[in-house]
Amino acid sequence: MSIVARARKHTIIGNSAAGLSAIKAIRKSGDSRPIVLISAEKCPAYSPVLTTYYIGNQVQRSKLFLVDERFYSKHGVATIFGRSVEAVDPGHRQIHLDDGSRLDYDNLLIASGASARTLDNVTPAASKYVSTLRTIADADKIKAVSESAEKVVVTGAGLVSLQTIKAILTSKIGITLISGSEQVLSQQMDRESALIIQAKLAAQGIDILFGRDVSQVYEKGGRAQVVTSYGETLPADLVVVGKGVQPNVQMVRHTSIKANLGILVDERMRTSVEDVYAAGDAAEGNNEITGETEVIATWFNACAQGEIAGLNMAGRPARRLGQFRENVTTLMDVVVASMGASKPDYGQYQELRHVDLKQGASRKLYLAGSRIVGALLVGNAHDAGVIRHCIANKIDISPWKDRIAAAPLDFGKILGGQNPNWPSLGN
Ligand SMILES: Cc1cc2nc3c(=O)[nH]c(=O)nc-3n(C[C@H](O)[C@H](O)[C@H](O)COP(=O)(O)OP(=O)(O)OC[C@H]3O[C@@H](n4cnc5c(N)ncnc54)[C@H](O)[C@@H]3O)c2cc1C
Repeated sequence: MSIVARARKHTIIGNSAAGLSAIKAIRKSGDSRPIVLISAEKCPAYSPVLTTYYIGNQVQRSKLFLVDERFYSKHGVATIFGRSVEAVDPGHRQIHLDDGSRLDYDNLLIASGASARTLDNVTPAASKYVSTLRTIADADKIKAVSESAEKVVVTGAGLVSLQTIKAILTSKIGITLISGSEQVLSQQMDRESALIIQAKLAAQGIDILFGRDVSQVYEKGGRAQVVTSYGETLPADLVVVGKGVQPNVQMVRHTSIKANLGILVDERMRTSVEDVYAAGDAAEGNNEITGETEVIATWFNACAQGEIAGLNMAGRPARRLGQFRENVTTLMDVVVASMGASKPDYGQYQELRHVDLKQGASRKLYLAGSRIVGALLVGNAHDAGVIRHCIANKIDISPWKDRIAAAPLDFGKILGGQNPNWPSLGN
């Protein structure tokens, strides 16, 4: 193939799930050509997913790192750490770094991930109290400040915010959660299921202010003062901003590499420009369920896409199939699994439900005809893997349709003779 003949070295932007998976796939496929890896951060790759466990003293800082320095030399990777890529110039096959230097590339993977959205209207003096949570540096800041904090304001009621609340929660700290919508976790679940998580937050003494945004943060009396769009002023020693993420794709704006929210990719993680690939939170690929392109910002997806990109860069055609949103996590001690179309407002799907708010359990499956296209399991997710298998493999569940809503159920047993295997990521 022309890619193999022409590409003399691989250049990868981003040292996290997608970049690391690509490196491993390139080497696993026997490709020994040089790899150059550029990362804005100076340290070896680490897991952002574990940072809340580090903040909550459940994981040591050293355990956040996925690899050590030796990984890069062992895999023949030349690293340029602590440098940001400001622009990609596909016409000249070059990337521009923030120190003014330019690097030629033959084969390029953009795995630059995403950055946390920040708050506007934080005065410079108040910025020391305010942090997002995306990087290890953010985690260090939140951990250090929260250790002596008495009042914390968390703005944004998504997954990262709730994980952070759990991490910093002690009897000494008063926490107020400000949610722009009328429920927590509005990206993942419907209002009814969210009540289960909200009850847990209330039981832990967390105040929740719904339907508000933060309009200003300023400093007064050695604290941040958080002003809401309702005009309330909340003093805080720490303000955690959980307003979602923004793919790091500024480097391709105004180039021939097409991007919406993320860089548009096909099933092989190829962009609109030959020899340029994208993967992970920076990439926007096809969502199997909705048929639309979407940034699927999860660790699993970043690893899977990075692997596919790496295989293709190594000249081994591979496709990422059956891609959809999926996540299993624990929020305020409640297990939550969301897969595919996990909210009724996805539209046209039939809902099979079993809800027991008193027991803190909600089980909702979404069907298109005889196929499951989505699920939201709160409080009990023991058959999430089997449901995922049914979604990914488009299994006809009509023989069991009247039995699969009730909880708790072992869907695996219901499926009986079938032997669910996780779908293959390769080829
Ligand atoms: C607190 C927290 C909890 C999470 N929990 C979950 C979870 O439970 N389940 C789940 O699936 N996902 C979770 N995620 C999301 C998951 O971490 C991301 O989906 C995943 O890290 C994306 O990997 P990535 O390789 O695409 O990019 P990232 O992890 O964002 O890494 C991007 C890399 O690119 C580098 N970079 C960025 N811009 C530039 C530039 N201009 N030049 C050079 N280098 C650049 C960065 O330094 C970094 O090395 C969580 C994230 C956080 C922060």
